[in-house]
Amino acid sequence: MSTPGNTADSTVESTAATPAFDRHDHARCTHAGMAAAERLCAARKLRLTPVRARVLEILLEAHQAMGAYDILDRLREEGLGSQPPVVYRALEFLTKHGLAHRIEKLNAYLACGRPEERHAACFLICEDCGTVGEVEDSTLDAAIVNAAGAQDFQISETVVEVAGRCHTCRDEATAGKTGPRNAAPEKAAP
Ligand SMILES: [Zn+2]
Ligand SMILES: [Zn+2]
Ligand SMILES: [Zn+2]
Repeated sequence: MSTPGNTADSTVESTAATPAFDRHDHARCTHAGMAAAERLCAARKLRLTPVRARVLEILLEAHQAMGAYDILDRLREEGLGSQPPVVYRALEFLTKHGLAHRIEKLNAYLACGRPEERHAACFLICEDCGTVGEVEDSTLDAAIVNAAGAQDFQISETVVEVAGRCHTCRDEATAGKTGPRNAAPEKAAP
């Protein structure tokens, strides 16, 4: 029943890579994330309690990492909890089961776009807008596994954090120098 692991993108309604840095139907993307979480919890007999579900939903609202206290503020506003352990326990559950990742560099959490597939966590972190995308490339996992294996090293967890600037921010920076923000890209050709 589980995903066959190879290129099968036809049958399973895969969450098809989270295009964090591109314009996309984010409502659909959020919905797919929640649906994937529900499937995963049902398959593994895990309880997606209202608080766990809501924390995940909050994380799915933007392709940005959120700190535990920002999430707690939201829960408090919604009357779902006001004590830090509430949010930490929910985050622990979500990260343990691969529904969210912890981004060390930002001391924050990010919803995972493909929790049903085992994958090394590799993040692209835009230092301007704070958007965080996950690298969806299984050859990266393989390269890390091979490199570790060559040194007879047993991996317990892989997290790669790449800092930089997304294309939108670079475009805006370029536009900012030449004219209004949404100016057509009519820069002179070389
Ligand atoms: Zn989205
Ligand atoms: Zn992930
Ligand atoms: Zn950016």
